[in-house]
Amino acid sequence: MSSDLNAFITREEIPSTEEGPLSGQTVAIKDNISTEGVATTCGSEMLADYVPPYDATVVERLKTAGATIVGKTNMDEFGMGTTTETSAFGPTDNPAAPDRVPGGSSGGSAAAVAAGEADLALGSDTGGSVRCPAAFCGVVGIKPTYGLVSRYGLVAYANSLEQIGPLAPTVEEAAELLEVIAGPDERDATTRAPDETTYADAADGDVDGLTIGIPSQLVEGADDAVVDQFEAALATLRAQGAETVEVSLPSVETAVQAYYVIAMGEASSNLARFDGVRYGQSGGHEGDWNETFAAARDAGFGEEVKRRILLGTYALSAGYHDKYYEKAQDARAWIRRDFAEAFERADVLASPTMPVTPFRLGESLDDPLKMYLADANTTPVNLANLPALSVPAGDTEEGPVGLQLVGEAFDERTLVRAASAVED
Ligand code: GLN
Repeated sequence: MSSDLNAFITREEIPSTEEGPLSGQTVAIKDNISTEGVATTCGSEMLADYVPPYDATVVERLKTAGATIVGKTNMDEFGMGTTTETSAFGPTDNPAAPDRVPGGSSGGSAAAVAAGEADLALGSDTGGSVRCPAAFCGVVGIKPTYGLVSRYGLVAYANSLEQIGPLAPTVEEAAELLEVIAGPDERDATTRAPDETTYADAADGDVDGLTIGIPSQLVEGADDAVVDQFEAALATLRAQGAETVEVSLPSVETAVQAYYVIAMGEASSNLARFDGVRYGQSGGHEGDWNETFAAARDAGFGEEVKRRILLGTYALSAGYHDKYYEKAQDARAWIRRDFAEAFERADVLASPTMPVTPFRLGESLDDPLKMYLADANTTPVNLANLPALSVPAGDTEEGPVGLQLVGEAFDERTLVRAASAVED
């Protein structure tokens, strides 16, 4: 086991409390998911010393399912990033593409699974943060339907968009982990009870008669090397009896813009609690409340987090609210409608998960816009609250490529079935 990947912020074992379906399995947990008595930093200096007094619901469920938690994984600060490089605890290397980023923001979780430092992992996906690192590290990642998995104990970044999701070496294992964490929770009023609650048994590879829609807009902008692997994966699916049809999602060209306005707006409000008094490090400044608040936040937050709080606050402020936030909400509604229309013609949709191969470490840090644009294929799914899965589709000289499958709300089973056919 290589420990120089920097996949973990804290390595500490949390034992299971009961025997269950995950007995004997090790699980790594993203460091924005609360663990009682074990540091939960969100990749931020602000929370470097924060130890939660309670477990997130997903952590409780893992413990009673027999899992052994092995530590808390590295991540972009508060989930804000696509490379895990905005972490206050240094970057994580990609075991599947050395000297390249593992993707983000759940890069530590994906790297830990890819390197065998944990059997399974949990990440969180606000705009792609489970699927992107899954694609870049060559593992499987699931972003569940909004409301399938409890967010209780997940430190909020943009709560109308995010879900906790599994990362695993295979589709079946990811589905088993989803089974353990899914289901209603009285402490998260947005959770719902789905009709179907088993997922792993759907990994039967049976795609005969399945119609797969290909949204042209999500393929056009991708690198050639990515498209080659994507096409090869589609050919595998067709060879097993699936049919592919072209569908159109014209609204997705607004997705990255709408996503960042909404995500930054929600973040600016969610992160107000880190004031050095209720939560977070104090900046060591003595003075009036405004000065101490500002000093704590200046010292505790990194560049990317500050940029987003400023932009989010601006976009929500009186006079600009209609111009940005409301427009973004309109785009969100339009995207939802486009997906609904596409699902009248297809059972699932397929695209490259990421339009690019993993960046070299350090390459995208000075160019936030380039980083934001890499989220073109993942963010529409969060805006529409749909489920999606990334499964390895093949390799390039610059690292692995992921195939993204998007399903109708609460139809995770069809995603698992189609993805398992790609693996075969
Ligand atoms: N890259 C996106 C962002 O920076 C998604 C992050 C996430 O899903 N947490 O917001």
